[in-house]
Amino acid sequence: RDLPGDPETSPGVRQVHGAAYSRVEPTPVPQPRLLAYSADMAQRLGFSEADVASDEFARVFGGNALLPGMQPFAANYGGHQFGQWAGQLGDGRAITLGEMINADGERWELQLKGAGPTPYSRSADGRAVLRSSIREFLCSEAMHHLGVPTTRALSLVGTGEWIERDMFYDGHPKMEPGAVVCRVAPSFIRFGNFELPASRNDTELLRQLADFCIRRDFPELRGLGRGQTAYAEWFAQICERTAVLMAHWIRVGFVHGVMNTDNMSILGLTIDYGPYGWVDNFDPGWTPNTTDRYQRRYRFGQQPQVAYWNLGRLAGSLSLLFDDTEPLQAGLRRFVSTYLDADRENTARKLGLADCREEDTALMQQLQDLLTEGEIDMTLFFRGLADIDVEAPDLSPMQDAFYDPMRREAVEPALREWLGRYVARLSQQDLPADQRRERMNAANPRFVLRNYLAQQAIDRATEGDIDGVTELLEVMRRPYDDQPGREAYARRRPDWARERAGCSMLSCSS
Ligand code: AMP
Ligand code: MG
Ligand code: MG
Repeated sequence: RDLPGDPETSPGVRQVHGAAYSRVEPTPVPQPRLLAYSADMAQRLGFSEADVASDEFARVFGGNALLPGMQPFAANYGGHQFGQWAGQLGDGRAITLGEMINADGERWELQLKGAGPTPYSRSADGRAVLRSSIREFLCSEAMHHLGVPTTRALSLVGTGEWIERDMFYDGHPKMEPGAVVCRVAPSFIRFGNFELPASRNDTELLRQLADFCIRRDFPELRGLGRGQTAYAEWFAQICERTAVLMAHWIRVGFVHGVMNTDNMSILGLTIDYGPYGWVDNFDPGWTPNTTDRYQRRYRFGQQPQVAYWNLGRLAGSLSLLFDDTEPLQAGLRRFVSTYLDADRENTARKLGLADCREEDTALMQQLQDLLTEGEIDMTLFFRGLADIDVEAPDLSPMQDAFYDPMRREAVEPALREWLGRYVARLSQQDLPADQRRERMNAANPRFVLRNYLAQQAIDRATEGDIDGVTELLEVMRRPYDDQPGREAYARRRPDWARERAGCSMLSCSS
């Protein structure tokens, strides 16, 4: 049921009541052209190379054609944005084409991002620019190969259309090439899908959606039937998955940038790649999002706390389905215990310890403080740490990790002292050196999608050369391998990229 919005107070806003989605078709684009695709994802979905190379593939995943059986729709959801209830949001530029069941019986939902206006577009155009589409395409796949739960990306299609954007909020609108990404996930349901009906006291729709989500996305809970027992375990599992996700983000140095509740996946996937970033020099206070540069709500080190707060909003919405809140409190406690376990696991794996003792948590904390103080590259440092000489430890395996010689000098004595305590700790376990190194290198990537690397690929693509995207995707497919000949992709952020837009900070608008 679509109700017209009040044109006086909210032009272009259509309030959709009593429905979880609206049928809407993609708007065709002038010249759909396949720019890049994920061979892994294509294969997983059963597309052959010939399928991918066909005109039809570019037409379908650019939004110009539908395959038989596709019934496109845009989902209706609300959300808390930067701590405030924002009301109805919905898929303003995402359109789900449908679901596919592959040869292995896996069910995948295919969704175009940037495919044109929907009933939820408000005053915006429903489109996405090439720059942000490349970022979503590359990072989705990079995260997957890093072992971080995420929505995937199948394709990147250029549209042949130019789009106006207020780039980086410098006040000057620019025309940028448009693109459409097809993203893929078992489910794109967000916390906000439940918050919206709850905010409208629509318990019926809320219950229907919860039952649907459990039935489709949490098959392991089917035995619990419908009702509060099932809802309680379902919420607890959402809490667990979200906690595991947060620990992964901290492990690899990923900052989402816009952890609004409409950008939180019910499956604990990383979803909605906007102004995300990767920490170069370790800094819990860093955020890539210019829109958040004063409050820093979504800064690197705060992400687990924000996730917990977001789960609290979801719990509040789901409370309509419960007689009392205790089961929801129990779910939130599950978040805390799961996160603490996963964080200890991170410490053990990143430091190459067989297990994480109480004092190891402090050892990790001291290291993180030194990495912050010394402006030290997180990825290079942890990767180098695997190669230290335990008989005579020094900083030589980590020498490329320092950004500022003065800062290095300031922390070097403390860092050497830390190394001494670290090797003493290593000597208390009998994990052979090669096994320790293997354990560390499986948790500490050599390659991450550094902001400047993505930006270089974007710059080349904007000039018409897509090979930078293809090469970067290839590197990011094996992030834990050393990949001889590709050392350039593992280097610390160059000085020129420090303050450059796109390489350090980004705005939400894309
Ligand atoms: P985000 O901050 O990217 O999660 O977006 C917040 C809301 O704005 C979501 O409802 C999006 O669908 C919507 N939105 C963002 N960009 C556009 C756009 N270009 N056209 C229509 N809706 C958009
Ligand atoms: Mg979003
Ligand atoms: Mg977004």
